[in-house]
Amino acid sequence: MPELTTAVDSPVTAPPGPGTAALRAALDAAARVLGEDRVARAADDAERSRLLGPNTSLFRSRRVAAVLRPTTAEQVREIVELFSREPDSGSLHAVSTGRNWGLGSREPAQDDVVVLDLGGLDRVRTLDLDAGWAVVEPGVTQGQLSRLLSHTPRLVNVTVSAAETSIVGNALDRGVGMRGQRTEDLVGLEVVLPGGETVRVGWWPTAGRTAPVYPHGLGPSALPLFVQSNLGVVTAAVIRLPPRPEAGRVIRLSFPAPALAEVTDAVRRWVAQGLTRGVPRIYDPAAGQAYGGAEGEYLVHLPVDGTAEAVEALTGILTAEARRTGLFTDISATDGSDPSHPNHEVTRLVERGYAGDPDITDTLFRAKMGVGADKVDTAAGFLFFLPLLPFTGEAVAHADRLLREAAAETGVRLSATLHLLGPDLIDCVVAMKFPHEEEAAERAHRALDLLYASFAEAGFTPYRLDIDHAGQRDALSVDAAAVALTRRLKAVLDPNNAIAPGRYR
Ligand SMILES: Cc1cc2nc3c(=O)[nH]c(=O)nc-3n(C[C@H](O)[C@H](O)[C@H](O)COP(=O)(O)OP(=O)(O)OC[C@H]3O[C@@H](n4cnc5c(N)ncnc54)[C@H](O)[C@@H]3O)c2cc1C
Repeated sequence: MPELTTAVDSPVTAPPGPGTAALRAALDAAARVLGEDRVARAADDAERSRLLGPNTSLFRSRRVAAVLRPTTAEQVREIVELFSREPDSGSLHAVSTGRNWGLGSREPAQDDVVVLDLGGLDRVRTLDLDAGWAVVEPGVTQGQLSRLLSHTPRLVNVTVSAAETSIVGNALDRGVGMRGQRTEDLVGLEVVLPGGETVRVGWWPTAGRTAPVYPHGLGPSALPLFVQSNLGVVTAAVIRLPPRPEAGRVIRLSFPAPALAEVTDAVRRWVAQGLTRGVPRIYDPAAGQAYGGAEGEYLVHLPVDGTAEAVEALTGILTAEARRTGLFTDISATDGSDPSHPNHEVTRLVERGYAGDPDITDTLFRAKMGVGADKVDTAAGFLFFLPLLPFTGEAVAHADRLLREAAAETGVRLSATLHLLGPDLIDCVVAMKFPHEEEAAERAHRALDLLYASFAEAGFTPYRLDIDHAGQRDALSVDAAAVALTRRLKAVLDPNNAIAPGRYR
């Protein structure tokens, strides 16, 4: 694949050229730690760009010196120590399951790094159903953990991505689950620091396990330093497992495009007053298709849960509220419970997702992507743009106009799902699906560039970056001194750049 014009290659620190003696020595030593079969090295430059295989976004494949596949935290520690010894031994880019689809998949932002694939660390180390936490390694998938929790009084907050995606990887990139932001689930991290020291930050179970889960500790908390971070490699996390609600339901509302701003304000009031739980969603007509949305109409999913009586009461209140607005063409609360309803199957899957079941067979995921998880990077074309919006009708209507402008200018089909994260915050998930070929990819990347520019101009900045826009962190931050502070920490903790700069350098 020839280089796309959108590619950004302006690293803050220059990586070592391909094949320095120090890099070869570090890789030889890594092979002794892991065994030769868990080290994939590139023989020449062409192979360096093929080592990771294709990515669904058709970002330019970065040159990668090697891929290392440890299976234990101790091996990770030894490898990080090896790459910390000299400045030109190369830098490590850690991935958990590497399914960061739309933002770069397993690709690093920068060329000539060594990919540390942690998919082989796949143990659920401990599960405490009474206290509500699990210690999981980076290769543990949401499907794996949710299976362990089925028929228990606890659940894991799942995303609508594939069942085989990592809980740790998603949380470390500030992913969003159906019940809330994944960072809220993260209560402790085991981190290998440059140099090879392992530290446990946040809350961690002690021998007697009597201390309640509380991530903040005493004094400054180091946990957030390792999220979207190049300061360490995470080898395990303590994940919060919330109590499973006794009952749950999703209320579906449909409305036509002109009502977008008014509906947003109405739904905001319901969110602010606590009438709906988890992350309610508003889908534009393109995004709503996979959920049985009516042609040309927007779709709203309002989850309610609690005791059976609370669910009945909240359903009654919300449907009456919706009727009173006069804004909706369809109001339904029985799709999930009535097998004869045309949207029964899809609504059941959504309801189960809110209850912690990530759709093990990926039925909805396949419907959206056209292929299964194992084919996404080779056969589907997919890009994400993830800006945050204030929760107001005016802001949502403005964002909707910007999306239409980018679509009209590039001919790219955009879809938007609004994740309502709280009474004042919306995660606006813009997805671009395109055929997995160069011409379509170029148009989609042009649309992405337009969106970065027009949304920033409107004050709607993204909270996750893709590998081509890693250089945007400075431009999008509110205080240059705060960014400089994190770079000072990087210089102190990682003077030899053992860990690659990444997307949030
Ligand atoms: C149809 C579809 C639906 C999706 N739905 C959602 C959704 O609902 N919510 C959502 O958030 N995303 C969603 N995604 C995006 C993506 O698939 C998920 O975010 C996925 O969980 C990320 O891949 P991963 O879990 O394999 O993480 P990885 O790719 O392994 O990790 C993500 C990033 O975190 C960092 N990282 C990972 N592991 C470590 C480590 N051990 N130490 C230090 N840094 C590390 C790296 O920078 C890495 O690039 C969706 C994608 C598609 C195609």
